[in-house]
Amino acid sequence: MQSRPSKIICVGRSYADHAKELGNAIPDRPVLFMKPPSALVSLQQGISWNPAWGNCHYECELSLRIDRTLKGETDPLKALEAVGAVTLGLDLTLRDLQDDLKQKGQPWERAKAFDGSCMLADWVDVQEVVGDWKNVHYTLQINEELRQKGDTALLIFDIGTLLADMSQVFTLEVGDVVMTGTPAGVAALQAGDQLKMSLQGKTHDYVWQTFVK
Ligand code: ZN
Repeated sequence: MQSRPSKIICVGRSYADHAKELGNAIPDRPVLFMKPPSALVSLQQGISWNPAWGNCHYECELSLRIDRTLKGETDPLKALEAVGAVTLGLDLTLRDLQDDLKQKGQPWERAKAFDGSCMLADWVDVQEVVGDWKNVHYTLQINEELRQKGDTALLIFDIGTLLADMSQVFTLEVGDVVMTGTPAGVAALQAGDQLKMSLQGKTHDYVWQTFVK
């Protein structure tokens, strides 16, 4: 059992193609938001939400576990040394509700931080996956159809820069999780969907499955 993070920090609009598909401008500094630890749900529990809140989009994201406290770090390369493990996660988003909140200029938490909105797969030692932080690849398939393809070379801000930037605002504590944002291809989930996330490792791919209840 993994220890409970003090917080889960998420990056919005980190891939230009995803910002574009939702009609958002390319940000000039990272867009950050958080999920509380109560948002966490396991792969085995599956995905569920209150349908009264509208649709729920999947966002498959490379996720990082912080193994060393990071505070006020200005050097992106040093910031990367704080990452001990990686995995894939789903930043589940009540898109109808988020659109409504955005329109009203209200915070996103109702749409992004609800119970069950953060699913993380199993942690993999960073050494098993990452040789070059700008060359990490992952995919999401739904019902065997390829929906999302992640490639960290396409991030607007590279991961070291993201971590250094965050650490100016929040102390990243041991066990905290960073979700690095989603590539294009997001869409609404349907009851019964089978999701398969694959992370390319150095020797083999790591594959995890979950489902919509
Ligand atoms: Zn996201």
